[in-house]
Amino acid sequence: MDADVTILGAGIAGLAAAVACTRASRSVEVIEQAPALTEVGAGLQIAPNGMRVLRALGIEVPGIDSQAVHLIDGPSGRSLVRMPLGPGFRLVHRADLIEALARKLDGVTLTLRAQVTQIEGDADLVFDDGTRRSARRLIGADGVRGASRGFVAPDHPQRFTGQVAWRALVPVDGWPPEAQVHVGPGRHMVLYPLRDGRLLNIVAVEERSAWTAAGWSQTDDPSNLRRAFDGYAAPIRELLSRVETVNLWGLMDHGALPRWTRGACTLIGDAAHPTLPFLAQGANLALEDAWALARMVEDPAAYERARRDRVTRALAAAAGNARSYHLTGVPKMAAHAVLRAVGRVSPGALLRRYDWLYGFDPTA
Ligand SMILES: Cc1cc2nc3c(=O)[nH]c(=O)nc-3n(C[C@H](O)[C@H](O)[C@H](O)COP(=O)(O)OP(=O)(O)OC[C@H]3O[C@@H](n4cnc5c(N)ncnc54)[C@H](O)[C@@H]3O)c2cc1C
Repeated sequence: MDADVTILGAGIAGLAAAVACTRASRSVEVIEQAPALTEVGAGLQIAPNGMRVLRALGIEVPGIDSQAVHLIDGPSGRSLVRMPLGPGFRLVHRADLIEALARKLDGVTLTLRAQVTQIEGDADLVFDDGTRRSARRLIGADGVRGASRGFVAPDHPQRFTGQVAWRALVPVDGWPPEAQVHVGPGRHMVLYPLRDGRLLNIVAVEERSAWTAAGWSQTDDPSNLRRAFDGYAAPIRELLSRVETVNLWGLMDHGALPRWTRGACTLIGDAAHPTLPFLAQGANLALEDAWALARMVEDPAAYERARRDRVTRALAAAAGNARSYHLTGVPKMAAHAVLRAVGRVSPGALLRRYDWLYGFDPTA
């Protein structure tokens, strides 16, 4: 038991917590099962609430400043409303964010290839090679399938949402600096550019009655993605014809765990509250958690009080978005008419309902 704080997991939550704790003059060790800090995966939309944390940590992450969220009717390709964004929305590659965080790990002891299989007692870590170690203070940042979540809330249920998400990247010849949401009955697709605008991030969601795969993430045949969106407009079909590899997620709804602390272990990020991707807030909330817990690591009850209501509200808002994206029939026609009307008069009004989310400064 050496470091003041032991962090399990070197994803966005864990790395941000490590940087924030060292800045609060604590000694930190990070334990990660992966052999290297290389993040596969694709894009992330970082919103002003998450960007404020990165800025306060002195982290500059390369990316594209997003100008708008553009809702488009997927089957017809017709624009519904283009909602302009203020400053502070950035489209980033996950690998670039992980790298930017990792560059700030001065003085942090990082142990890779170390999988924790179980946590016992107050915060005693059991590793896959059979060794054990006690942590003085443990931050569980090991995500939705990690060990710390099972320690803090062993019987917390999860529910298949009836939705799956494909994620893919395709090269493009330049793309507007905006996130496009192509909505349609039972499915929607989010598109946004990454890096120099020559890579397009695709997240495509479809409703399904069942999810039977053993894991929650797997590769899939791109033709399944193409088939799911074959009723969409020609430019989308053309885009999907160029997808070569694709990952498929079964989207699970866990809600926020009923408690985030047990013994000396406190959860942050997806370990505490896995977030559906329909509001693009999972990583943003993880950054907020990391900042908050680094300041309250000796008083986890205060951290939980400070965070729980906000997190619960964000989770509910994300779940609500999925329903409104997938409307059919008369409700869809009515909703689209409203969107077009509001878009003509005051396109920014629709985003103002999220002022509580994006306007929040976790570092204030
Ligand atoms: C389709 C999709 C799109 C998304 N888009 C967005 C978006 O645009 N914006 C946004 O903000 N969020 C988005 N998210 C959510 C976001 O990706 C997650 O909320 C975020 O990555 C969670 O970070 P984390 O660090 O808490 O967990 P993770 O990223 O899961 O990191 C956990 C780390 O812990 C390690 N680990 C796990 N178990 C162990 C163990 N037993 N021992 C040692 N190490 C372990 C793992 O290897 C990993 O490195 C999206 C999610 C999905 C599925």
